[in-house]
Amino acid sequence: MFDKITKTWNPVIGCLHNCSYCWARPMAETKLSHMDKYKDGFQPRLAESELKKKFRRQYVFVSDMGDLFGEWVPKEWIIHVLKAIRNSPSSYFLFLTKNPQRYFEFLDVFPKNLVLGATIETNREYKVSSAPLVAERYEWIVRIPYHNKMVSIEPIMDFDPDIFVGWLKEISPVVVHVGYANYNQNIPEPSLDKTADLIGKLSSFTKVKVLRLREKYT
Ligand code: SF4
Repeated sequence: MFDKITKTWNPVIGCLHNCSYCWARPMAETKLSHMDKYKDGFQPRLAESELKKKFRRQYVFVSDMGDLFGEWVPKEWIIHVLKAIRNSPSSYFLFLTKNPQRYFEFLDVFPKNLVLGATIETNREYKVSSAPLVAERYEWIVRIPYHNKMVSIEPIMDFDPDIFVGWLKEISPVVVHVGYANYNQNIPEPSLDKTADLIGKLSSFTKVKVLRLREKYT
């Protein structure tokens, strides 16, 4: 389970974290700009028509075109999404945020068929976005009392192996995604050997889904 995402679903779009490596914003502002829900570009928005969708036995990545738990997202929008998820009990839904602190607001109403994810690209603090610090994300996700947690190390950035592996062990995710950026986005990447070593260490205690791997851009 949790090997393969079979659907993406965007009932809430947009994001204000302003990551330098973001691929979703340019896509929303160009390729997808003809769609009604992207008519304001990447401004946060609830796409109400999406809430009617139902899924059967899928593993659904929710809001890959935004951050559903960004601090700017009204609580009611998230409640709408959780209600819609209750109509699809045979599927699992992956949330992925850079603001896992907000998961605590909803612990009492989360259904059981979720995977609560946090993006933690490294243990080091690089100035690549206005999202919460990676150390804060780790501190919040490690404390979440939920049975399915995941961590996305994508796009991977150079890291300190002992500290980073220690964080992942403590978080105890059901799966970790690891991948490099899609393009040369001028972020500090580790060597392929270093990443391969990380994957080996993580694989000793959790499932690792390897996404894009390549030698770093120079
Ligand atoms: S969190 Fe994701 S969607 Fe938001 S700016 Fe960063 S890369 Fe883009």
